[in-house]
Amino acid sequence: MFCYQCEQTKCNKYCQDIGVCGKTETTAQIQDKIVSALIDLANGAERNEKHTQLIVNGLFMTITNVNFDDISLQKYLDIIKNAYYTENSFDIKTLWNENDDTRSLKSIILFGIKGMAAFAYHARRFNHKSEVVDSFFYEALQAISKNMSLNELGALVLKTGEVNLKALELLDRANTATYGHPVPTMVTTDIEAGPFIVISGHDLMDMSLLLEQTKDKGINIYTHGEMLPCHAYPELKKYKHLKGNFGTAWQNQQKEFENIPAPILFTTNCMMPVLDSYADRTFTTSAVSFPRVKHIGNDKDFTHIINRAIELGGYKTFQHRTGLNGGCVLAVGYGHNTVISLADKIVDLLNNGKIKHIFIVGGCDGAKSGRNYYTEFVRKIPQNSLILTYACGKYRFNDIFTEKIEDIPHIMDMGQCNDTYSAIKIVRELAKRLDCSIANLPVSFVISWYEQKSVSILLTLLYLGIQNIRLGPGMPAFVSPNIMRMLINKFKIKPISTPDEDLKAILG
Ligand code: SF4
Ligand code: SF4
Repeated sequence: MFCYQCEQTKCNKYCQDIGVCGKTETTAQIQDKIVSALIDLANGAERNEKHTQLIVNGLFMTITNVNFDDISLQKYLDIIKNAYYTENSFDIKTLWNENDDTRSLKSIILFGIKGMAAFAYHARRFNHKSEVVDSFFYEALQAISKNMSLNELGALVLKTGEVNLKALELLDRANTATYGHPVPTMVTTDIEAGPFIVISGHDLMDMSLLLEQTKDKGINIYTHGEMLPCHAYPELKKYKHLKGNFGTAWQNQQKEFENIPAPILFTTNCMMPVLDSYADRTFTTSAVSFPRVKHIGNDKDFTHIINRAIELGGYKTFQHRTGLNGGCVLAVGYGHNTVISLADKIVDLLNNGKIKHIFIVGGCDGAKSGRNYYTEFVRKIPQNSLILTYACGKYRFNDIFTEKIEDIPHIMDMGQCNDTYSAIKIVRELAKRLDCSIANLPVSFVISWYEQKSVSILLTLLYLGIQNIRLGPGMPAFVSPNIMRMLINKFKIKPISTPDEDLKAILG
């Protein structure tokens, strides 16, 4: 087994024998075969909707913390092979043995399109598709098996970022066209007495189907981790039994799910290996899967999970819970529509010096202790700066109460990694109103990364010409020293240092 696709890879080199994420050698091998088979398909098969969907699903299934179930992975591999088979199959191990820089650039492209596949997968559930996005999956997969110069691969890396922007836009349109634009909403962390279901992942359609199927059944629904933004969508928040948010980010699942009297539904990643103590009340659907855990198929019949919620009964009494910093209300709903509606005011405050700087502190959470940097960083940002955040990393500070700057909240949560389009749309709008380039805005990106969606997002930010991104908690193991030097020279990417040093460097 060789895997180095995520931030927690062993010793920041690569995982062998077993993944730090819990992925076994057998799982890794089947996932490698899936990627190899998809490359064969892209190289040899006709480009059509059936094959594109196979590529999108297959890439998504190989992202970190999505699918740990060898049986479902093997079934999927067989489906791809039935759709297209060749004697001269490409072996992804060829890539791991290429020279450092070629391997590095091809890995960035591969991990970038895995992330993009996740966004495309969710958009496709609403039948939102794009010819540009779809055809790029073929082009990028073909490139991995081809001999290409470093220059050609470098251009393809940026093209991955460019096309990923389209995938993000597509997903934004799919979600907002279906459920409305997110509106500012206060979400409680308290849990009421009685039966409840905890739902995690990013799939808003699964969320809406669960809400509909549990309506009037005396069961409350609580989001966990990635599902938090759904509270802000008008067509989801209208359900009165969508009550609040349970727990924090994905890496805390084992601790947070261990003793709760309720079932848990995973609609997508990130999924920690499921412990025996809660496996019998855990359910998966769509691309996520785990051995011994009941998987709900495409009929999306949630009867089992509803019955389990009634059987378990929930808490007997009201439970007061808090976030990591002791706060018990989380403000969500600051997507592009909301923030752009405040843009006149934000521009005035920037012009009159009441807002000095805007920090976009976004990206993943994870288990490494170095991630405390982001909590400290946000705590140390002066009150005269705005903080826009997105994705799992916000759980480190989204329960901290802060004063507003006039009517503008000091911290605004734009949503999940799936909502990164908001961050891009907002900075583009500010640049337009301030008549400058994005690079010249008083805006700094301070990003945390973990899995492949964050790789694709980083490529999009680079494609947009955003410089001086501070990245942490570590640098990706799949970027060779030469390619890292190139990124530093061209885009001025910087590894995070300490909150004090970075703030001083940014604010001067
Ligand atoms: S996904 Fe990450 S933790 Fe899991 S095996 Fe690969 S590199 Fe290791
Ligand atoms: S924010 Fe990062 S860790 Fe969380 S789901 Fe998105 S990519 Fe995964």
